[in-house]
Order: sequence, then C-alpha cells, then structure tokens
Amino acid sequence: MTTPTFSRLVGPTARAMAAVRNTHCQPPTFRPAATTRGTIRCTHCGGNITFTASAIDGRTTGRCSSADCICWNE
Ligand SMILES: [Zn+2]
Repeated sequence: MTTPTFSRLVGPTARAMAAVRNTHCQPPTFRPAATTRGTIRCTHCGGNITFTASAIDGRTTGRCSSADCICWNE
C-alpha cells in the first residue's frame, strides 16, 4: 500500500512500533507477560497513541487519537 498518507507515516509509525516493542516485547520472549494496553506520545503529531502488546504472540497494535495519523496492526 503506497498511498500518500501511508508514505508520510512510514517513519513515525516505525518509531512508534519500536517504542512499544522496546518497552514491552523484550528478549527472550519478545512479548509481555500479560497483554498490555497503554498510551504513548504520537511520533508524528504529538497526540496520544493507544497501543496494545499481546501476551499471546507479541503482536502490537496502535492508533493515534488524531484522524488520518498513525495506525498499525501487526
Ligand atoms: Zn498522531
């Protein structure tokens, strides 16, 4: 997918994902002990990203509170 919105957000989305994973998905399991939800500062607009990190498979999801901003779902 290479829409303008997607391209604009590739870098900030990668940084936000990395922030969540670095905090909650550390080796050796690469997943939190319990599924974790929280908020981090948006790496694009400075708003709030609501994220989850799954204890089952270590996948993360996140969505910025702003419209047309960061959103990912591994
Ligand atoms: Zn944002």
